[in-house]
Amino acid sequence: MDHDTSRAPEYDVVILGCGPAGLQAAIHSARKKASTLVLGRPASSSLWRAHIENYCCVEGVKSGEELLTAGIGQARGFGAEILHEDAVATAQEGDFFSVTIESGRKVTAYALVMATGISRKGLGLKGEKELVGKGISYCVDCDANFYRGGKVAVTGDGSAAAHGALTLAKIAGEVSLITKGLDVSEAMKRELKESHVKLYEGEVKELEGGERLEAVVLGDGTRLEMECLFIEKGAKGAMELAAFLGVTLDPEKFTFILTDKNQATNVPGIFAAGDICGQPFQMAKAVGEGCVAGMSAAAYAGKKRRERG
Ligand SMILES: Cc1cc2nc3c(=O)[nH]c(=O)nc-3n(C[C@H](O)[C@H](O)[C@H](O)COP(=O)(O)OP(=O)(O)OC[C@H]3O[C@@H](n4cnc5c(N)ncnc54)[C@H](O)[C@@H]3O)c2cc1C
Repeated sequence: MDHDTSRAPEYDVVILGCGPAGLQAAIHSARKKASTLVLGRPASSSLWRAHIENYCCVEGVKSGEELLTAGIGQARGFGAEILHEDAVATAQEGDFFSVTIESGRKVTAYALVMATGISRKGLGLKGEKELVGKGISYCVDCDANFYRGGKVAVTGDGSAAAHGALTLAKIAGEVSLITKGLDVSEAMKRELKESHVKLYEGEVKELEGGERLEAVVLGDGTRLEMECLFIEKGAKGAMELAAFLGVTLDPEKFTFILTDKNQATNVPGIFAAGDICGQPFQMAKAVGEGCVAGMSAAAYAGKKRRERG
């Protein structure tokens, strides 16, 4: 905990996710006069490239991009602030939460809404599944310490990969970042340049090893020996962000966040909505859950604010 918890948090509600669930949560939270911040990239929403014809009250076929652009305008119109940056870490700070974003800035709020959608994490390479836990990892924050002083690499193009490489730079001996092109903030690019992380442009095409991973081969034939390859695609997965806060996931596959009828998780002050809460993966469900989560989060924050006086 490194935030002065005697001071009130910066926002009432911080929403992680700029898809239909997050935007609807923002609309309802902001309309309840809760100060609201939305994080995330609309172009990373599943909806961005979709074409929707089964959403009630919208006739014909509408592009997802058009719908999201309208949603952003509405949320801003009701007073929500929107920042197109990803959350890279979360923590409980006394009676509120902190969220570290790509630029390194830390924002604080009484309530969080997790609306980060679903992520497809693997590279789909031969041997990948067999090597999980034996030199293949999908979570820098979980496994970095196993490679103290070691030779490791991270692959991915978003903030999770960049943040992962920067985290490993403080722990491992040699860190490479393999990327087709980073889609992260300028501040994060600068931090990487100033670190000792080696950048490789390209994609991992092959994994080498038997009992454990020994090396990876890139598309241009470059062979890199390493003890572990961290696969961190896109943004930091909600599962990791939520798990660090003690949020309960579905007991069978640990792929969805469990919520009650108010979209509340088991952790007071944390709500969730949309694809991250499980199937069906549909815009109508995401919007409905977003509405409930936004209202619940705003009510929770209001109560906390009044308690502080
Ligand atoms: C090709 C395709 C076609 C589809 N067609 C239909 C259809 O016809 N009808 C229908 O109803 N549904 C359709 N869907 C499904 C629909 O798009 C999803 O159900 C809906 O977008 C889910 O909304 P969401 O807000 O939960 O997640 P998403 O829309 O996926 O949004 C997730 C958001 O979280 C953000 N995020 C992720 N990680 C972080 C982080 N660490 N910090 C901050 N932000 C983060 C992302 O940037 C993104 O903004 C389709 C989906 C696809 C892929």
